[in-house]
Amino acid sequence: MTVCIRGAITAENTKEEILSATKELLTKIIRENAIELKDIISVFFTMTKDMDAVYPAVAARQIGIVHAALMCFDELEIKGSLTKCIRVAMTVNSELKQDEVTHVYMKGATVLRPDITQKKDAVAIDGPAGSGKSTLAKLLAAKMGYIYVDTGAMYRAFGLFCKNKGISIENVETSEKYLSETDIELGFKDGQTRVFLNGADVTDDIRTQEIAAYASAVAKLGFVREYLGNKQKAIANEKKVVMDGRDIGTNVIPNAKVKLYIDASEKVRADRRMKELEQKGIKGDFDTIYQEVVQRDKNDRERKINPLTVAKDAVVIDTSDMSAEKVLDEALKIIKENGLWK
Ligand code: C5P
Repeated sequence: MTVCIRGAITAENTKEEILSATKELLTKIIRENAIELKDIISVFFTMTKDMDAVYPAVAARQIGIVHAALMCFDELEIKGSLTKCIRVAMTVNSELKQDEVTHVYMKGATVLRPDITQKKDAVAIDGPAGSGKSTLAKLLAAKMGYIYVDTGAMYRAFGLFCKNKGISIENVETSEKYLSETDIELGFKDGQTRVFLNGADVTDDIRTQEIAAYASAVAKLGFVREYLGNKQKAIANEKKVVMDGRDIGTNVIPNAKVKLYIDASEKVRADRRMKELEQKGIKGDFDTIYQEVVQRDKNDRERKINPLTVAKDAVVIDTSDMSAEKVLDEALKIIKENGLWK
């Protein structure tokens, strides 16, 4: 597929500065998006009117972009806008989708896209079922005084809604017609996420294997992901959060200061699920639980929209042989290194 990647950087108006800044910008765009030079179709450049020492396209040729179509233009002169700025739009053949590309804003040009360049005070935690995400997220939130947001609870609540409507797991897509009568909200109290479905607290009702399977099925649907994803983005905009789920670092808070991917072997994760059930007095069969864990991972990893993947700037922690305290220590170390908490 073809995608277009934007970038911008500021520089002084000398030949050396413009060429060096443009090379720095192009090289970063190429690196961050894993582009091969042969896949670059075109690069359009603009410079603000206070820049005229050299064509920025010269820098592209100098770093080996020789087959792409290059063009240079004047940028519009809008009152009060950023001065001495070089902008690029690069069109490339790529395996990435447009919403997966990394646009690059450097030096003074970071002000053009604060939504990308300003990191958010948030911890985004992703990982498969039973990896220890929610245990870690709760401990972190308590320690840091942040709010713990359990996004899986929202998918589960939508799953419960479908079940209550008498919709089978195989037919959850028919729930779209009921979207306008669904209200899923989160409440935060004493470090706990409570989830409300049309005003009723369903926090405890959604913790069954059946509702987990429903959640996994509704999580594939674009209209559900958009509805719940927008709510999650709004919460992250308003509050300092530790948010866990499957697409938090890749989709919900892509500019989170800290991204963690929590993993563990399938056997360990199935074991943990079984113990969790036992604590609630439910006797589970290991093989069945193991199969459910594997199936849920497969659904989450293979779905088309916002699948479970490791964000490229996430730190992976494998918790298979670690205690909860050890995982917390490790996570806090990363959080401190990123300047999010002292
Ligand atoms: O984390 P939990 O097991 O409660 O999540 C239930 C299901 O919700 C997951 O299996 C996944 O399919 C879906 N989910 C998701 N994206 C999220 C959080 C959960 O697709 N951010």
